[in-house]
Amino acid sequence: MEDIRWNAFWLGLTLIVICLVTWASTTATIALIIFSVAVLTYLIGHLYWLHQLNIWLKKPVLNLIPNGSGVWEDVFAALHHEHRRHSRNQTQLSSALGRFRHAASALPDGVVVLNAANEIEWCNPPAEVQLGLDLKQDENQPINYLVRHADFVNYLQTQDYIEPIKLKSWRNPDATLEIQLVPFGTKQKLLICRDVTQLEKIETMRRDFIANVSHELRTPLTVVGGFVETLLDMDGAVPESTRGYFNMMQEQTTRMRRLIEDLLTLSHIESNAQAPDDNEIEMSGLMNMLLNDANALSQGKHKISINTEPNLDLRGAPEELQSALSNLVSNAIRYTPRGGEIEISWSMRNYQAVFSVKDNGIGIEQKHIDRLTERFYRVDRSRSRETGGTGLGLSIVKHILTRHQAKLEIKSELDHGSTFSAVFPKERIVQKQVVLF
Ligand code: ADP
Repeated sequence: MEDIRWNAFWLGLTLIVICLVTWASTTATIALIIFSVAVLTYLIGHLYWLHQLNIWLKKPVLNLIPNGSGVWEDVFAALHHEHRRHSRNQTQLSSALGRFRHAASALPDGVVVLNAANEIEWCNPPAEVQLGLDLKQDENQPINYLVRHADFVNYLQTQDYIEPIKLKSWRNPDATLEIQLVPFGTKQKLLICRDVTQLEKIETMRRDFIANVSHELRTPLTVVGGFVETLLDMDGAVPESTRGYFNMMQEQTTRMRRLIEDLLTLSHIESNAQAPDDNEIEMSGLMNMLLNDANALSQGKHKISINTEPNLDLRGAPEELQSALSNLVSNAIRYTPRGGEIEISWSMRNYQAVFSVKDNGIGIEQKHIDRLTERFYRVDRSRSRETGGTGLGLSIVKHILTRHQAKLEIKSELDHGSTFSAVFPKERIVQKQVVLF
């Protein structure tokens, strides 16, 4: 650019000097004519190269860039250089895109790139097979016009993409698909689709196996337990010297029966894909029932109080919810030493309904809290066994709450006590209107 400016400067200066010399040696008119002709020629030259540039811009092919003359030689050289750099970048970008598409096509999972309006920008072959798409025809089509499954359309609209969803394939009813949306860039989304039919089969086999084994064990255990109990009740049937062993047998069969009942409950809840019943549960009645059960279990060893918000009820499956909430109450009693205090409450918090059980019992160390809802996870095995625990209570609670879109919150401090809360979303709340006369 510096060169161009200097060239223009020297050219202008030379012209002015020539005109001045002409004026001095001839007349001012001749000098003016020379000046005008020179400026006109200069302008025509520029217009010519501007026209060439305009022609080239309509078809910008690298080897057709004009050579130019004077300042235009530099302009066209700079343009040539820029154009070459740009083509090089473009080649690199398209080869990177090609490599990405190759890699994405080789993935076993289906991948669909969606734009901000949820239209298909690109998809790989497994996505075409799993979702029944055809990229050639369906490019730029909204995904919800092509994948019309109600659950998927709902998932797309809720914009809560933390968890994937599972759907029965509409192309093959025996197959199950797991679909996850991942937002990226400026409101774009990546749809990842996996065929989880095999995993689902294994999971169902595992659940059925546990349910069947538990079911098969229930009858012989009931028979053995029943006989032991009858023998213990019959006068003289059990000699005093062996009564201790019989008592132990009765304790252990009772424990095994409880374990089997819990396993059956868990597998029943897990395999039940249907939404829970949607009955209105009168919470003040349920809270009183929980208090009575708690008092019976505590046998006067604890100070138990309840605090129920009036006119606040719940929608859900009564039996399931009663079992989950009473589990939290019985844990509080079992893990709080004699003389401890237990507070059961039901109230509103930030548009959500919260059932909580607070105790000042043994508490739990922070490191165990995240694992408490795992099956058979017990902080202290001997203590759990001593108090008649199976290690399945909290996993049953968590499953029941998840079925009701509720969450289990656990706050605890070792030696100071715990608070277990079931937090229900506003969709599950029934608030009765109070009529004032
Ligand atoms: P368990 O039948 O052993 O009680 P749960 O699944 O109900 O099994 O509870 C898992 C573990 O969580 C228990 O073994 C116990 O260590 C701990 N826990 C549950 N509730 C309480 C509580 N209120 N206070 C202290 N620890 C608790």
